[in-house]
Amino acid sequence: MDSQHRLPSDTDNGMLLIISGPSGVGKTTITRAIERSIPDAVFSVSATTRQRTEADVEGIDYHFLSEDQFVRRIEADEFLEHAVYAGNRYGTLRAPVEAQLERGRLVILEIDVEGAKNVKAQLPDAFAIFIMPPSEEALLERLRARKREDESVIQRRFEIARREIAEARACNAYDAFIVNDTLDHSIAEALDLVRAQRAARARSADQA
Ligand code: 5GP
Repeated sequence: MDSQHRLPSDTDNGMLLIISGPSGVGKTTITRAIERSIPDAVFSVSATTRQRTEADVEGIDYHFLSEDQFVRRIEADEFLEHAVYAGNRYGTLRAPVEAQLERGRLVILEIDVEGAKNVKAQLPDAFAIFIMPPSEEALLERLRARKREDESVIQRRFEIARREIAEARACNAYDAFIVNDTLDHSIAEALDLVRAQRAARARSADQA
């Protein structure tokens, strides 16, 4: 990195962190806690065609796009990866991720299993964590408790979640699995993993 263009928070220790887990497992809370606890961490804001809910803030949770706008960005090769989840498109924009990695930041992608496999195939150094529910029953309860969707959408997300967990276990894309029994415990476990991983990478970079 050109030292003249460094920002005060720039480091030489860039890392791509993938966080996945079924809908309702608590991964957004865990992801946002990592973002707050690690000073140079940045959350990658995905693009999506799904409907904005009351809880969503444009540009902070997602960039909400129409189908046309999304497809134009695919055609312009603007996505590092994109996938369809529960009938809606989701994608990670390449340019902001590359710019932040270049600055040595910890860039966090909260993406589905399809996206994680795709990113790992392109960038094998990415560190990927999958958040598991304590049980299927607990997951269904959490999906209902957040009162975000109606029962048919909840059932659809629950079915996808079961498939995702099986796929995550089978696919080899994940470096670690965390069971979200309590949020405090899961956040601490995720932070320990990420800090240890970054420290190990910094040590091997020093030795190189
Ligand atoms: P939700 O609609 O609940 O916000 O997200 C649904 C699923 O899409 C979640 O598993 C979430 O991690 C995933 N997702 C969000 N953004 C992206 C993205 O940019 N790419 C991919 N592949 N999946 C994403």
